[in-house]
Amino acid sequence: MTERIHNFSAGPAVLPLPVLEEAQRDMLSLPGVGMSLMEISHRSKTFDEIFGRAESGLRQLLGVPENYQVLFLQGGASLQFSMIPMNFLPPESSADYIITGSWGKKALKEGKRAGNANVAATTADGGFTRVPGSDELKLDPKAAYVHFTTNETIEGVEWKQEPAVGNVPLVADASSDILSHPIPVDKYALIYAGAQKNMGPSGVTLVIVRDDLLKRIPDGLHTMLDYRTHVENKSLYNTPNTWGIYIISLVCKWLLEKGGLEAMHRENEAKAQLIYDAIDSTAFYRGHADADSRSIMNVTFRLPSEELEKKFTAEATAGGLDGLKGHRSVGGIRASIYNAFPLEGVEALVAFMKEFERKNA
Ligand SMILES: *Cc1c(COP(=O)(O)O)cnc(C)c1O
Repeated sequence: MTERIHNFSAGPAVLPLPVLEEAQRDMLSLPGVGMSLMEISHRSKTFDEIFGRAESGLRQLLGVPENYQVLFLQGGASLQFSMIPMNFLPPESSADYIITGSWGKKALKEGKRAGNANVAATTADGGFTRVPGSDELKLDPKAAYVHFTTNETIEGVEWKQEPAVGNVPLVADASSDILSHPIPVDKYALIYAGAQKNMGPSGVTLVIVRDDLLKRIPDGLHTMLDYRTHVENKSLYNTPNTWGIYIISLVCKWLLEKGGLEAMHRENEAKAQLIYDAIDSTAFYRGHADADSRSIMNVTFRLPSEELEKKFTAEATAGGLDGLKGHRSVGGIRASIYNAFPLEGVEALVAFMKEFERKNA
């Protein structure tokens, strides 16, 4: 089979076709180099240029101010769960965690291992269907930082605006909605994201960190776990994921050509709305997230029974709509519709939903 199907996978996820085509064209030999990107030194001039394009592309798209570092690390977003408290949570202090889903819980677990990590708010009680209101946040003005998850990939719960945390450094796991809409980077102290949802392949993690935070890092951390190592060595202390950074550079080029993040945001809103409208127009489908917390990247919903959900994903897969099964921890259906996911795929899903309901309601 050589035809591409509609890939609703949560991650690793769909990549833009023009990016895959360019990578394929240059797979055996980068123009003027005679070797593939995977075969050249991470300290070569060619890679240096590609690295520069990835960094400047991200800086341009996100409007990253000068006083922030852009790092490409490894270990996934999951290693950031540990690195953040190791670097920024001193023993005499505490950090606040706002929990809106499964990934926030995992971040909290590592925070607790490293020091005093408090739950400033959690929406676990309702089954993580929403973000908390500002009146629900128990924030300590002396906290070392506040951590939150901009988009909970598994539950499909997304913040529409960052929580107000005063002068406390705001740290965000933006793995599954980075680059889906503009963000005011200057409101954050640190933003991190695994690339494999909306930016590139797995194996590379973006970290955007404000310079002044680096002064808080204690001495004596393992070299690879100290952010200063990666700042001082421009992410090249050890061999980085050169292929991942290359793909990110192509994704940035693609996004810039499409008009940047405002244009992406409009497209993403429109795509998500089509599915939410289909959910809301019937009692057969039941959205998981509350209307004001709905994700534009991961649309989660239920059917009247688990049997019907199984039948739904099986028939969808047979019809070329792959990856719709919800995460094993919550069940149901999840349609991940990242930047690279085409509108036609969303329209195909909506048509399938209507037809499935007609046959099974
Ligand atoms: C996927 C995901 C992670 C985990 O990423 P890894 O790169 O696999 O460690 C963390 N947070 C969020 C929000 C995610 O979507």
